[in-house]
Formats: sequence, C-alpha cells, structure tokens
Amino acid sequence: MICDNRYTMIIDFHTHLFPPQIIQQREEYLQRDRWFGLLYGNPHAKMATAEDLIESMDQAGVDACVAFGFAWRDNKLCQQHNNYILQAMIRYPGRIIGFAMVNPSQGESALLEVERCANEGMRGVGELMPDGQGYTLQDESVMRPLMEWLADRDLPLLIHSSEPVGHAYHGKGTMTPEKVYRFIQHYPETTIILAHWGGGILFYELMSKVREACARVYYDTAASLFLYDDRIFSLAVTLAEDRILWGTDYPLIGHDRFLRRVESAGLSPASVKKILGGNATRLLGLSQGECP
Ligand SMILES: [Zn+2]
Repeated sequence: MICDNRYTMIIDFHTHLFPPQIIQQREEYLQRDRWFGLLYGNPHAKMATAEDLIESMDQAGVDACVAFGFAWRDNKLCQQHNNYILQAMIRYPGRIIGFAMVNPSQGESALLEVERCANEGMRGVGELMPDGQGYTLQDESVMRPLMEWLADRDLPLLIHSSEPVGHAYHGKGTMTPEKVYRFIQHYPETTIILAHWGGGILFYELMSKVREACARVYYDTAASLFLYDDRIFSLAVTLAEDRILWGTDYPLIGHDRFLRRVESAGLSPASVKKILGGNATRLLGLSQGECP
C-alpha cells in the first residue's frame, strides 16, 4: 500500500487495459473493429495488461487507477473485455477501479451489461467513443436509457471528447465542444467526465451560463502532454479546480513522466493534491486519505 505518499492518494483516472489474448491476436481484432484498426493498426501503438499497469503504478507511486477496455462496436467484445477488467479488480483490489464499456446503441443488452458490471463493483461507464461505436450523443433513444440508469445509480459516464482545431490524430473523432455541450445540457442529473479536457469546453466556463451547465462535469487530463503545453494546468485550476482529474491515457503516456510534468507546472501544493487524487477520491466516494 502506497497511500502514505506526499499527496495522500494519487489516482490516475484514465487508463486502458487489454487482455493478453487480444494483444497476442491483435491482427485479428484489427479486422474485426474498424475503430480499433484505426487506433491500433500502427504496431507502435502500445497496449498494456493489468500487470503492466501495476508495474508502472508501483514505479511512479500511483495508488489507484480507473481502468477500462476499448470502446468496441460489438457489445460481445465489450463484455469479454469487461470480464478482464473485473478479474483485474479482483487480482488488485483497490488499485484497479473498473469502468464498464458498452455500446449503448445496442439497446437492452447494454443496460444489462452495465448493471452486471456495477453489481460486481465497477464505479462508472466509459470511455465511450460515439464516433467509433456508431451513434451520436444527440440520439435520445440511444443515450437516454443509459444516462437515466447512471443518474439512478449515481455513477459517472466518461466520454471521449476532442478539439475542433489543431492537429489530426487517429481516434480524434468529432466529439467537439459544441456537440458535447448540447449533450451535457440534456442530462443535468448525470455526472459526466469529459476526457482530454473536454476538447476545450473548459475554457467556455468563463461564460456564466456554461459554468452553470457544467456543474456536474469533470475534466480529465488524458493525453494532455500530446495536445497542450503545460500552462493548461494553471489555467484549468483557475476555471474548475475541483473538477479536474489527473488521467494519463496509459499506456500512451507513462505515469512517471506525466506526474513530473504536473508537479513542475507551477501549481500550489493544494491544487496538485486535488488534481492528482483529491477530486477523484471525492467523485468515487472513497474516503480521503484511505486506500480504496
Ligand atoms: Zn479518449
């Protein structure tokens, strides 16, 4: 247990894990899912198992990680992947906090799956990727049942989001602030975590209407080192200090490197503590200073 570290508790809110079997049969899965083919077709695109993750966490002094699989289009693949995350939660209790992956456009089977995963201890749903999974956030019939289920269970949804400008990259998608903002306004009862700083929605919180609408919105920092320069940390703290969650997008970026960048971003110790674990602790309902 590493909990007695300098920030009470360090939680990475955004990591992707894969079962060894998918890593070994990568070629086959590249054919089975178009979006997976786009993101992982490059043999240098890293994939990690639960053991890899724990090793990286131990090296960097990270206490716990929110971990999920890949946003497959086929719910059967999501289920298989969820099983791996559930097993990892049992192997590493308290260190791996699972989120369930589903394709909400596949109706009843998606709700049954999130129910199963929540009953087995998962703490949320995500990282959904509407572009890859073949639906839009605006589709009521797809999103409403899941969003209401999440609100009832008081569990958060983590969705991919991206910048409408800047460089192109595989998996960027079209979940840009305009679309995501409409989605948020539609489901005020559900806690939503926007990956990758919400594609920049955060900055519109300078507008009071947007700030009000985003009261239940959290932002994770996943992949930030590839997207923004490090001034974003101090800017973000002035806008939404209590709703920023440190997330790496591991194994895309390793823990050690990302931690050092946050620590040298010129933030106050209190802000660093919130970003690296305090906010996540509160959101996940873990008691402060206690390992999950
Ligand atoms: Zn993402």
